[in-house]
Amino acid sequence: MDDMNLQQLWVVKVGGAVLEDKDTLACFLDNFEILPGLKILVHGGGRSATRLSEKLNIKSRMIEGRRITDADTLAVVTMVYGGQVNKQTVAALQKRGCNSIGLTGADLNLIRANKRAVTDIDYGFVGDITEVNSTALDLLLKNGITPVIAPLTHDGEGQLLNTNADSMASAIAIAMATVYSVSLIYCFEKAGVLSNPDDDTSVISIFTSASYRLLKEKGTIHSGMIPKIDNSFNALRKGVKEVIITNASGMNMNSGTHISL
Ligand code: ADP
Repeated sequence: MDDMNLQQLWVVKVGGAVLEDKDTLACFLDNFEILPGLKILVHGGGRSATRLSEKLNIKSRMIEGRRITDADTLAVVTMVYGGQVNKQTVAALQKRGCNSIGLTGADLNLIRANKRAVTDIDYGFVGDITEVNSTALDLLLKNGITPVIAPLTHDGEGQLLNTNADSMASAIAIAMATVYSVSLIYCFEKAGVLSNPDDDTSVISIFTSASYRLLKEKGTIHSGMIPKIDNSFNALRKGVKEVIITNASGMNMNSGTHISL
């Protein structure tokens, strides 16, 4: 969708590790604040929820490296992601003169999801997104307010659900692409998609589905990078103008990895 008449909107997702490091986070927020025009920030969680769980003596159950969201864990992620992380980010943006509002997917009925069906694994209270309320987001943007969204959704029946922040950013970008020219930027602690995961100078500047197949097979692309890239391709297929995976502190459009179909 290359309609030159549509207004630019940035949908920026910032990853967990960045939220853990005060200096990197400050640098990221400085860069976010100076992005020109309309923007939405989606944040992940990081290890802060695990730390609070440990303090409260709640055991995190893991299956295949993924945390199971039981009722206690849902309460903790709601407090930490929807509370501490979200409100601290908003306060830090206010300090920078960016008037923002911190929300979960339940607020303003922003993002609805279905609880993931139980197959051989029961992930617990995990949501797969079904609907984004683009009208509500647009209302905020049109009033000069920057939404800051925590990775929690709801099912419309009163149930909050823990939801992958990368998927939330992608779903929001897709929903907003009908009315804006949307750039989706995934910011994390590495320099971009790397051809050697241990070498931060090995950034792949343009990443295509052909390179994806190859690098996934070789195991160069693994773990958290796989859903991030799947979400990137999905966004491009559904009308998002550009997707960039880049470093949070050096966030600019000339560095990092540009995803291309
Ligand atoms: P975030 O919360 O920042 O989104 P994720 O853990 O979901 O983090 O995904 C980012 C992680 O993906 C990186 O920390 C890195 O360990 C991993 N990764 C796997 N393959 C690659 C790759 N080829 N290039 C860069 N990072 C990769």
